[in-house]
Amino acid sequence: MTELTQGFAALGVNPLIIEALDEMGFEEPSPIQAAAIPLLLEGKDLVGQAQTGTGKTAAFAIPLLQRLDPEEPRPQVLVLAPTRELALQVADEFGKIGKRLRVRELAVYGGQPIERQIKALRAGVSVVIGTPGRIMDHLERRTLKLDQIRAFVLDEADEMLSMGFIEDIEEIIGHLPAERQTICFSATMPEPILRITERYTRTPARISLGGRGIAAPPAIDQAYFEIRERDKVEALTRIVDHEAISRAIVFCRTKRECDELATALQARGYLAEAIHGDLNQVQRNRVLARFKEGQVELLIATDVAARGLDVENVTHVINYDIAQSPESHVHRIGRTGRIGREGMAFTLIHPREFRHLKLIERATQARIQRRSVPTATDVAERALDLLGERIDSLVTGGAGQESRFMDLAARLLEEHEPDRLVAALVAAMAENRGAAGPETGRLGSGPVPEGHDFPNTGAEPGYVRLFMNIGARHRVTPADFVRTIARKADISGGLIGAIDIYDDFTFVEVPKEVARAVLDAMEHASIQGRGIHAEPARPGH
Ligand code: ADP
Ligand code: MG
Repeated sequence: MTELTQGFAALGVNPLIIEALDEMGFEEPSPIQAAAIPLLLEGKDLVGQAQTGTGKTAAFAIPLLQRLDPEEPRPQVLVLAPTRELALQVADEFGKIGKRLRVRELAVYGGQPIERQIKALRAGVSVVIGTPGRIMDHLERRTLKLDQIRAFVLDEADEMLSMGFIEDIEEIIGHLPAERQTICFSATMPEPILRITERYTRTPARISLGGRGIAAPPAIDQAYFEIRERDKVEALTRIVDHEAISRAIVFCRTKRECDELATALQARGYLAEAIHGDLNQVQRNRVLARFKEGQVELLIATDVAARGLDVENVTHVINYDIAQSPESHVHRIGRTGRIGREGMAFTLIHPREFRHLKLIERATQARIQRRSVPTATDVAERALDLLGERIDSLVTGGAGQESRFMDLAARLLEEHEPDRLVAALVAAMAENRGAAGPETGRLGSGPVPEGHDFPNTGAEPGYVRLFMNIGARHRVTPADFVRTIARKADISGGLIGAIDIYDDFTFVEVPKEVARAVLDAMEHASIQGRGIHAEPARPGH
């Protein structure tokens, strides 16, 4: 059992469901889940209010699945959802949580041929999730039997109200057995919904989350970006590029999402790694050390993993998924801007999560400014600014002072207008970032062993230690090596092992299997505008 799952176990959730939650990447119950699950496991009626995105579905799906009678072929749980999409989402969540219970769930909604649903209902399902219109349709056709329903859920009740489903809902409730558990979940509790809950529930427990004041640390500048789900990765990369972010914690809801996002970012050339409850202590420490040293720029974390993290100088916190409560939002953003430094916190939201964001804004008494995702042009312009800065630092750092470069420079300056000359060079660099430096010849390199067959280089077992002729004097950082090697040799930055930077040279350990590729790739690479020469280290170096 991982850290998370202890949280669910403490609520009384059974081990088969906990295994499924673990697979889904849930690490711990969200606040609404912690409050609702024990009550619902006891069979109590419940009226629960919490914003969108706070995990209300699992709050009822977990206990209801646990209370199902596996022997009963007829539907035992009925969930009403306002739209087809929401019905499908709820059905999907039931399916995943109930994976090990072999429960059958079915979404019924308008727009799908009713015959297919009738066939599925006949085959036997335990949980039916439907939109009110289509449920009514089945009731009229007598293709849905509600006499064995033990639990009824009105999900996203306020949306149902605004879609004009109240009469249908009351009619459907009229078909249900009187002896049942009734649950209503909603982001808000308008009067007509309250009335329904009063009428159709029996001394329900009431849970209302949010609203309690909790102040956000003041030195943090907050902004949010509204984007569609499928544009999220792209938006994140543009924000990271545009802000030139090199040290951020990025929060996701689940372990799975952390892994997926880290992989997606690595594939795009970012130094990203996930940290979450599935990592053992050794792996955790390794990722953290790499983050502290700058070999990892984006640490992708769950709330659980980030708790108690001791990392300084995080310039940005990015909520890739919005936090599930104001408290957790404050915890997250408290990771940046420590010790009087200014920090930035960005939150990515789906349009549906806007109200949740507003609630966080109110509860934390902080202003969260709206921003639009930088366009590709914005990013390109910013990249040019950064290139300019880099050239400034190369010139002041004395790059290219060797006579062969100075001689060439002098000749080029005689032949061309200086501004045209510089513009051409800048254009070439911009086009070919990272590979823009002069290529070195083979500076007396001896024969390089073939294949995996490297002599002892003094590396960790399984690794080869490479010598590279560039070091602290040339203002290189571990991140420069990781980035260059990952891009040039086309391997994940996560594979790279120890990096020891000395004044004039550096040792980098890479796995045996990729050592050859790294050596080859380095012959065409440059760091900080200097060509690199790499060769297997001799032990004792
Ligand atoms: P709501 O109904 O409150 O709007 P959902 O139930 O749709 O929220 O949940 C929002 C997202 O959060 C879903 O992707 C869900 O899988 C995820 N989620 C729910 N509970 C947890 C949890 N305990 N840990 C991590 N992710 C969760
Ligand atoms: Mg919901």
